[in-house]
Amino acid sequence: MIDRLKERLYLSVPHMSEASLRYVEEAFATNWLSTVGPNLVALEEAASALVGCPVVGISSGTAGLHLGLRLVGVEAGDEVVTPSLSFAASANPIRYQGAVPVFMDSDWRSWNLDPNLLSEFLKKRAAVNRLPKAVIVVHLFGQPARMAAILEICQRYEVPVIEDAAESLGARYRGAHPGTLGEVGIFSFNGNKMITGTTGGMLVTKREAWAEKARKWSQQAVDPDPEGVKNYVHSELGYNYRMSNVIAGIVRGQFEVLEERVLARRAVFDRYVAAFEDVPGLEPQPELEEEGCRHSRWLSCFTVDEEAFGRSCYDLIRLLAEHNVESRPVWRPMHLQPLYEGFEMVGGEVAERLNRTGICLPSSSSLTQEEQDYVIDLIVTAGKERNH
Ligand SMILES: *Cc1c(COP(=O)(O)O)cnc(C)c1O
Repeated sequence: MIDRLKERLYLSVPHMSEASLRYVEEAFATNWLSTVGPNLVALEEAASALVGCPVVGISSGTAGLHLGLRLVGVEAGDEVVTPSLSFAASANPIRYQGAVPVFMDSDWRSWNLDPNLLSEFLKKRAAVNRLPKAVIVVHLFGQPARMAAILEICQRYEVPVIEDAAESLGARYRGAHPGTLGEVGIFSFNGNKMITGTTGGMLVTKREAWAEKARKWSQQAVDPDPEGVKNYVHSELGYNYRMSNVIAGIVRGQFEVLEERVLARRAVFDRYVAAFEDVPGLEPQPELEEEGCRHSRWLSCFTVDEEAFGRSCYDLIRLLAEHNVESRPVWRPMHLQPLYEGFEMVGGEVAERLNRTGICLPSSSSLTQEEQDYVIDLIVTAGKERNH
């Protein structure tokens, strides 16, 4: 057992492998240091083979959502449903398109978009001929949303589904990769995600033509070049959203250890669960009890029942911080953000309660047993102190 930590213990840190460094060195050695290059090609191939559909390497998950919204035809003034309980990056791209978010509550079972609320909402909107242009689903902390129900509802009303799978690479929904079930999906390689390129993202879609479009838009949308002189012609609006060959090298190496990283994070979660078994008032984020579903446990999350545990969730977060351990509340819902004041919110009780009572604990795949024991000991003691 560690008496005290010399350095701060963070929530989720990068966990590199040697392969990443090798691919980056190759990029330097061969001067493939611009946007395109062999690492990007190899990464797209490897990722595509894993998830089972075309993949486009891009600069971030946020950029991917922006491209995805445009692919499904979202334009200025359109409405897009998105769960309130998520990171701001799930909602902000809606505004980049000049569209309007409609926030919706999550359910207790998955902590993700509530299919029942969605069903009622779309029924009401269909009756007045005001269906939203798209629905964004988030797989929060690595937990797949209840996609069968959500897809069935959205197909009934012909509303396209975009999946924000930024937090769920390595998870499974009925045997498939969350992110590949809707029209478009995105993954993130931000520094604190399951695997990282320091930054970066990936757009996936079953439609090869859409992948081609996303690839074109992500590189300033240059038209074909009939004169053969690179006389750039643009007929569409583009962005600088493509992934660089150096970042792709890091991500490519990380892909080779993805399964190991998922299993390590799941083991971290299992150790917390075992340690908290006899601690009153701590409940883990549930795992969908369906055939072929796997929570990636990107973050280990628990709810803190103040009455039973003896301390509030925020009190516990502050106590851990005093002992050099980073933890965080479950995302602050978008409908409570000053940025999104005045936007429509459907329900809200679940998201609000999860933000007040939910805690995300250190979850890195590189977390040592000793470090985790230190965190566990702090939490168990904190609960006991107040209970006696
Ligand atoms: C990290 C994250 C994103 C954004 O990904 P970036 O690659 O950082 O742009 C989007 N949505 C969710 C839910 C995330 O956690």
